[in-house]
Amino acid sequence: MKIQDIQAVQLLLATPKKIAIIPHRGPDGDAMGSTLALYHFLLKNNHEPIIVSPNEFPDFLAWLPGSETIKIFEKDKQNCTKILQEADLIFTLDFNALHRTGEMEHVLDKLKAPFIMIDHHQKPDDYAAITFSDTAFGSTCEMIYNFISFLGKKQDIDKTIGTCIYTGILTDSGSFRFPKTTGNTHRIVAELIDLGVENTEIPGLLFDNSGFGRLQILGQALQNMKVIMQHKTAYTTLSQEELNSFDYVKGDTEGIVNYGLSIKGIHFAAIFIENTEEKIIKISFRSQGAFDVNQFARNHFNGGGHQNAAGGKSEVSLQETIQKFEDLVTKISI
Ligand code: 5GP
Ligand code: MN
Repeated sequence: MKIQDIQAVQLLLATPKKIAIIPHRGPDGDAMGSTLALYHFLLKNNHEPIIVSPNEFPDFLAWLPGSETIKIFEKDKQNCTKILQEADLIFTLDFNALHRTGEMEHVLDKLKAPFIMIDHHQKPDDYAAITFSDTAFGSTCEMIYNFISFLGKKQDIDKTIGTCIYTGILTDSGSFRFPKTTGNTHRIVAELIDLGVENTEIPGLLFDNSGFGRLQILGQALQNMKVIMQHKTAYTTLSQEELNSFDYVKGDTEGIVNYGLSIKGIHFAAIFIENTEEKIIKISFRSQGAFDVNQFARNHFNGGGHQNAAGGKSEVSLQETIQKFEDLVTKISI
């Protein structure tokens, strides 16, 4: 972070403020962990923070301390709009463009209060007064640890804040496996463990805490998997009907896309998930090595993300989306 930006944030936080904190739509472990870590930090510093999530967060993150205080925009637009309009300061975390908040974008667009963006996605939009954006970080949670440290407030990081930070580092790094996991990541985690963060309990809370439906959905996705070995690609699909038949709950499809990469010789994996309510096919892309799925998602599926993990959507049928994907895959070199 630039010195002048740190000083500007210090000035903004010098007096108690009403502060709205916003994750992206469909918040994941990093979005939830970073917003909650910042929430607890601001509370400790005599501010009035409130997290407004564009939509519901998945059940497997509900154990995070403070999650019960989160307001859900799409469930209570009137009240949430009022909260946003009354905020003196807005933090947007773990996303780089206001459209990632869905319908909430139209409220955010009109706000006069300054925005602070903390994010690790490529190509940040220019909407924030202060932009702390750096793709070198594996998670926004790791950036929050640094952000608090830059403000000279490292001593404020306690077990509660540390638990939230640890969660996002763990989930966004694929349990410390992805390329942006650095010595610094592990040094931060070591400090968090010294603060009492339950590093052996949290993975269980996150990953061993789902219903039988999730395993059945995973089984279905593995059955549906197609391998295009010649193009180092594996993809799978889940139709709305399949999801319904296994009592799908939000979060059940998290991580399934990665199974494609576990096949020897596969460098590009995708999952296509039908959502009839939103009339879209939600897509996740993963790669290992040089193939840039962020660019692929941006160019062809109205999305974005990072080089090795990105997402997007399609507004045509599942069949048509797959056809388009297969046609594209045969034309690119992976
Ligand atoms: P996931 O596949 O786990 O939903 O997302 C992987 C990465 O891509 C995350 O960093 C996420 O924020 C980003 N991402 C997912 N969907 C979209 C999308 O529709 N648009 C953009 N710009 N990024 C996305
Ligand atoms: Mn993230």
